[in-house]
Amino acid sequence: MRKTRVSLGEGIIVEQGATKYALDPKSAVKADYTFVSHAHMDHVETPHSKAKVLASKETVLLARARGVELETNMHDPPEGVALLDSGHILGARALYVEDELLYTGDAAGRERAFMSRCRTKKARVLITETTFGDPRYIFPPLDQTVKLVNEMIGHTFDKGRPVVLMGYPLGKSQILSYLFSSWHPFFVHESVAQMNDIYRQSGVPLKKEAKTVSRTLEDLPQGPWVMVTPMMSSRNKVAARLKKEHHAVLAAFSGWAVDRGYGSYLGADYSFPLSDHCDYAELLRLVKEVSPEVVYTTHGFTNEFARTLRGEGFDAKPLDGYQAALSDY
Ligand SMILES: [Zn+2]
Repeated sequence: MRKTRVSLGEGIIVEQGATKYALDPKSAVKADYTFVSHAHMDHVETPHSKAKVLASKETVLLARARGVELETNMHDPPEGVALLDSGHILGARALYVEDELLYTGDAAGRERAFMSRCRTKKARVLITETTFGDPRYIFPPLDQTVKLVNEMIGHTFDKGRPVVLMGYPLGKSQILSYLFSSWHPFFVHESVAQMNDIYRQSGVPLKKEAKTVSRTLEDLPQGPWVMVTPMMSSRNKVAARLKKEHHAVLAAFSGWAVDRGYGSYLGADYSFPLSDHCDYAELLRLVKEVSPEVVYTTHGFTNEFARTLRGEGFDAKPLDGYQAALSDY
C-alpha cells in the first residue's frame, strides 16, 4: 500500500512515495502536481511553473475570468488518480487517489438546482473541509427555503417594491439566478452577470436576465423587480441607495443565516440559510461514506469536528493553521 504523508505548508502537501501533491496551495509551491479544487479566490493561486496542474476545465475558465491562468501546465490525472464532482460550485472537484486518499476541497452535502452533492469513494485517508462542523449548523430543506423566498417576493411585489437577492457572486448567485428567474423583470448585478455567462457557456441552463445592472445602478427602473447581487451590508453605498432610492427589500443567502444575528448584522431585511457547503449532519454522513482510518479537518470548526469524529471512533485531527476567514465561500 502507498503510504500517504499529509503535512501543512502553503496549503496542504500530500506525499505518496516519491510523488508530491500540493492541494489548493496559497503560493507557487514546488510539487509534482498542483491540484486546484475550485475557482474561489481563497483556493486559486498561479501554480509553480514546474508543477503539473490538475483541475477541471470549468475551473480553468472561471480562474481565467478572475485573472489566474491554469491551462499552461494542465495535465490529465495520472493512473489511479481521479477528480470527483464535489458539488460546491461549477467545476469544483475532489481529488481521489485509488483506495488511499480523498481530499474533498469545499464540498456540498445536497443537490441544489443544477448542482449535485459531493461524490465520495472509500479511502484510507480523508481530508475534508469542516466550515459548518458544529451541531447548530443544520440547513433546512431547499424546497422549504425556496417556498419562503417566493412568498416573501410575492408580498413585496404586492407593495410595488423590488427585492434584492444577495449571495457570493460565484456559485451562490448562479443558484439564486436559476431558482428565482421566473420573477419578472429579473435583473443581475454586473459581477454576477460575468459568472452567469461562464455557467451558460459550460451548459448550465440559466435564463438570460432582462438587464445587467452596473455598480452605479444606471437606468435602474423603479420596482417591482428582482435582482441578484453580491453580498452587501446595508452600510454599503449601493445597498444604501437601493434602499433609499428604490425602497428595495434586501435578502441575504448564506449558511451562516442559521445564526439568528446574521441578517441583522448585515442589516438585511431577510436572511435565508442556503449554502454550497455540507451542513453538520452532511459532513458526518460524508465521513461515514468514505469510511476512513484517518481524517484531517480543515476550515471552520476543525477542532470541534475532529473531536466529534473521535467520539465516533475515527482517528481525526485538525490541520491547524489552514483556516480561511469565516466567510461563506
Ligand atoms: Zn469555495
